[in-house]
Formats: sequence, structure tokens, C-alpha cells
Amino acid sequence: MTRSIALLGSTGSIGCQTLEVVRELGLNVAALTANASVDLIEQQAREFSPRLAVLYDEAAAAELRERLRDTKTRVLSGMEGLLAAATAEDADTVVTAVVGMIGLKPTLAAIERGKRIALANKETLVCAGTLVMDAAEKYGAEIVPVDSEHSAIFQCVQGCRDRGEIKRLILTCSGGPFYGLSHEQLAGKTRADALKHPNWTMGAKITVDSATLMNKGLEIIEAMRLYRLPLRQVDAIIHRQSIVHSLVEYRDGAMLAQLGTPDMKLPIRYAMTYPCRAETPDRTLDLLSCPPLTFAAPDEDTFRCLKLARQCAAVGGTACAVLNGANEVAVGAFLRDAVGFNDIPALVEAALGTVEQVSAPTLEEILAADCAARAAVRAHIQ
Ligand code: MG
Repeated sequence: MTRSIALLGSTGSIGCQTLEVVRELGLNVAALTANASVDLIEQQAREFSPRLAVLYDEAAAAELRERLRDTKTRVLSGMEGLLAAATAEDADTVVTAVVGMIGLKPTLAAIERGKRIALANKETLVCAGTLVMDAAEKYGAEIVPVDSEHSAIFQCVQGCRDRGEIKRLILTCSGGPFYGLSHEQLAGKTRADALKHPNWTMGAKITVDSATLMNKGLEIIEAMRLYRLPLRQVDAIIHRQSIVHSLVEYRDGAMLAQLGTPDMKLPIRYAMTYPCRAETPDRTLDLLSCPPLTFAAPDEDTFRCLKLARQCAAVGGTACAVLNGANEVAVGAFLRDAVGFNDIPALVEAALGTVEQVSAPTLEEILAADCAARAAVRAHIQ
């Protein structure tokens, strides 16, 4: 069980909810990091008194240093700061809640120190899953997923002694705000439409990924890496109610599922308390008043991001890093109203066609593929 955490990405949605759980469980906070949100991280630093606070942005860090002068919190910036936070001596668990590829190096650094990783940064496993899982094995670092689907699976495989008994992982998918729409109907969808997620409250990037179903595609890759299973053993199924958080089918036909209200604090809390469970102060699922649970197949022809992700998952190598990097830039452009909703899969597909791919890549080759994918999408947009 966790006693002290380093929280990477403390001002985002997962970061703030993690601090709620920290407050609830009375954990120590050794380090906090964020990109540039001076006001919020200052407030958090005053409440949790970490030894270290990091803002990636240099100027914002200087401002924070000035503001925290009267405290014992040291302020750092840049990748150097993130690495210091990830390897903080007094943290036994590192929560990786930063968005994007920026989380990769700090996660690897924390793994090398043998820390428990409460993993909320998908990109780490999507782009460099093999490297990350090999390192975790080598250094004896536990990886406990925070993503709700992967936490559900993690909970359903507790007690499974032989991974060969797993027939299939089934990730559930809400379908997002545009479920059931046609390709033509999707064309006119705007940033505001995409940000209306039916069940979950999340950051902007992941909410758009939920609307395109890229999020589920990335999660399929994440699950393949976490459990070292081939694509044919990882499925996604539409479940509009977001109550069944995912399932594991075993070879004897048994299916285990984890159910609960759509609240990220449950997987966050479990990542902190694993292998134990703590009392929740929140409202829990009431089976008698919850809506009927329904399941359907996803429409990969309309939501092409899911199909592209599956194709990359099958290819492996740097394909997933290209997929992810291209998607981050395309979604960023969509959030600035610079491209349309259907341009997101088109831009990702174009990047996959132009960036040269490498099998069994090194970390440097993965980072290079990510950069090339981003550059390809920027060039296409211009
Ligand atoms: Mg998820």
C-alpha cells in the first residue's frame, strides 16, 4: 500500500481527483508537477506541503518559486524537474497523470528506482509499452493501471495464476457523444459538441479521443502491452451506461467483470491501496436503480480512428507511436477549430502513410517516430 506519492500532472482532471483520494486516505505528497498552472499548483503545494513542486514551463516555474518563498517547497522546471519528481526518494508511488509523450521518460526513471507506478498516462504504454513492461520486470516495479478499463481488468485478474487461462479481455466503451451518427453527420461536429461526454468528466484531449473512439483504440494497445496479449485476445464492445468497466473471459467460459459508478476515484483509490481496498466516502452503484445494461459492436467504418489503432496494434514497432503522435497534433488542431472532426482520422492515416516505420524500436527510435508523426500532421494542416 502507498504511503507517499509523487504526482506528475497534478492540475489536470486525474491529478485533482488523485489529490481528493490522497486527502481521503491521509497519504503524504512528496512531489507535485504540472505544465504551467501557477495558481492551482500553488494552492496544492500550500495544502499538501510537498518537498518538490515542478512546473514544466520555465517562466511559470520562476513565478511559482517567488510565490512559494515562505514555504519549504523547492521549485524546479523542465524535464529535469519532472525527472527529479519521478525519482523523489520519499515517494513510494509515482502517479503518472500527465497527458502525452512527455510522461515517458519520467515513468521509465521511476521504474528504474523500483517505484510503484499508478499509470494514468496512456501514451507511455501505447508508444513504448514493450520497453516499459520489460523495464518494470527488470527493476521489480509494479504497474497498477488507473485507466478505468485497465483497472477493471487488473481487478478481474487478481487470483489468476496463469495468464494462459485468459481467453480474451473485453474493454467496454461508452461510444461517446456521437454514438450512432453517420460519417456525414460527424463532419459538422465542433469542439463544443465533442466535449459533451455522456458519462465521464475528463480533460479535453481524452474527451475528443472518446468521441472519435481513438481512446478505445489506444486502450486496446495499452491492454495488449500491460497483459502481453496479442490483438486477437483484446476486444472492445460498446456499453453506453459505463457501469461495466471491462471484462475478462477465461478459457473455461467464465467472464469476470468489474462494475461501479463512472467515477475515476475508484480506480485511483485502488491503485493507491492495492492489494487492499479502502472504504469509499462516495455514492456507490445501486443495481436496483441503474439503467438496463446493453452491449453492441463498435462501428469501425464510421469511427475510423478505432480501425486505424487496431491496424497499428497488429503491425507493432513504431506504428503505435506514429498513431499517437499524429493523433495528439490532430486533436490539438481540432480543439483550436483549425480542422474538422473527420479530419482527425484522415490526418492520422496520412501520417501513417508518410512516416517511415521501424520494428523492435529503441527509445530513441520511438521518440523520433513521434516527432516525425507530429511534423507530418502539422505539414498536412498547413
Ligand atoms: Mg479509459
